[in-house]
Amino acid sequence: MTSVRVLSVASEIYPTIKTGGLADVAGALPGALAAEGIEVRTLVPGYPDVLRALEAAEEVVRSELFFGGSARLLAGRSSGLDLFVLDAPHLFARTGNPYLTPDGVDWPDNGLRFAALSHMAAEIALGAIASFAPDVVHAHDWQAALAPAYLHYRGRPRPGTVMTVHNLAFPGLFPHDLLSAIDLPPESFVIQGVEYYGRISFLKGGLQFADRLTTVSPTYAREIQTDEGGMGFGGLLRERADRLSGILNGIDVAVWDPATDPRIPGNFSAGDLAGRAANKAALQRRLGLEVVPDALLLGVISRLSSQKGLDLLLETIPTVLGQGMQLAVLGSGDRDLQDGYRAAMQAHPGLVGGWIGYDEDLAHLIQAGADALAVPSRFEPCGLTQLCALRYGAVPIVSRVGGLEDTVVDADDAALVGGSATGFKFAPVTTEALAGALRRAAAAFRSKFDWRRIQLAGMATDVSWRRPAAHYAALYRELAGMRYT
Ligand code: ADP
Repeated sequence: MTSVRVLSVASEIYPTIKTGGLADVAGALPGALAAEGIEVRTLVPGYPDVLRALEAAEEVVRSELFFGGSARLLAGRSSGLDLFVLDAPHLFARTGNPYLTPDGVDWPDNGLRFAALSHMAAEIALGAIASFAPDVVHAHDWQAALAPAYLHYRGRPRPGTVMTVHNLAFPGLFPHDLLSAIDLPPESFVIQGVEYYGRISFLKGGLQFADRLTTVSPTYAREIQTDEGGMGFGGLLRERADRLSGILNGIDVAVWDPATDPRIPGNFSAGDLAGRAANKAALQRRLGLEVVPDALLLGVISRLSSQKGLDLLLETIPTVLGQGMQLAVLGSGDRDLQDGYRAAMQAHPGLVGGWIGYDEDLAHLIQAGADALAVPSRFEPCGLTQLCALRYGAVPIVSRVGGLEDTVVDADDAALVGGSATGFKFAPVTTEALAGALRRAAAAFRSKFDWRRIQLAGMATDVSWRRPAAHYAALYRELAGMRYT
């Protein structure tokens, strides 16, 4: 098999800089692809944390005037990943959340910042680095999505391009008058270009011009072709349906391995679940919950946003408590939801606990100690927390949307008897349906036999990157064998 070289372009990458699942994917996929004979280098912005973590850095490109300042492209390694880092201090020398000011609003120059990232990707694709000529450019989400558009408008021989949509809800919208500052030609501002209801959509650049489109689950790939799920892109995606596929995400099964996880007090495996009891007690103590082994402890690890349906869970707390459950919430995001969960913790001490913020250690402890994990999303491109939950024996309770539909087998009667059930699913996404799923879960929990079977079937599910990586490798090989001008 000949090796294929891929330039992956992402605005965040685990473990150095992460706000969500995109970072997990960008960080884990290259390793899984190496086993398929695919060589990946990832282009990321030079945020301070990224520059600090970069080893063996070497300058490969220098530009005195690049999007309003001087910039260097550095090649190096970090946490086992081969990186290109766009060191442009005027754009990226900012700590904290990569997209938001310390006050929590978008940086006003986000358009310039991520156009610059995509522009550098196009430069590399067109030969800026003699020692690295990619066969394929793979752009992730709106922050990288202009790369295929730049390559299209240059009109030169180029590598094939893939655009992956991790979340269609972020179209990357900017005013029309940014066009020349980001080096897009006037003719690009048309419906067949990057124009989106009078503004520029970076995401649309990728959706329109990438040779292949992928999203992160087969069900989400179908949903985004509808008017309801398409967020204004449904028509375009229907037109390009023959180029669009859904490839499920995996998780890094070395980082998420209950048998070796250093962040939890009780390691365990499907063969010996005993360690879970120690994790549950540690979790209950940490969050100020009553330390009782027999209450079903329901966990949540999530951004607090309307997408995630956590307002529904807040309204369902009477059912949660009525069924004798406890609730452990880890999340941050919308102020109303943060306030709502804080209020619930105060109103129900010992029964509802949690932490409003971001905490990876606690995320691992919840997966390892909670009995179940709730993911009641209104839409969910793939979802990673339910995959971690499956691996950790926390039974997922999820809405029937996107990747949640594709990764959890509902414990209906047939699946329970057949032993294939791995969780509980509900539809439509309403408080009533969620409450119904919680009641079904509580009943199964009371029958220890059913619960154990569901847990073990979940833990036996392959949630690794092995299969997804094979799909991406096949896609890259197909593109690498073609010519694009
Ligand atoms: P999204 O990318 O839409 O936020 P995903 O389920 O795809 O959702 O990925 C979320 C990732 O972020 C998971 O790895 C999850 O464990 C992690 N995560 C989310 N919120 C928190 C938090 N408050 N603390 C720690 N990890 C979190």
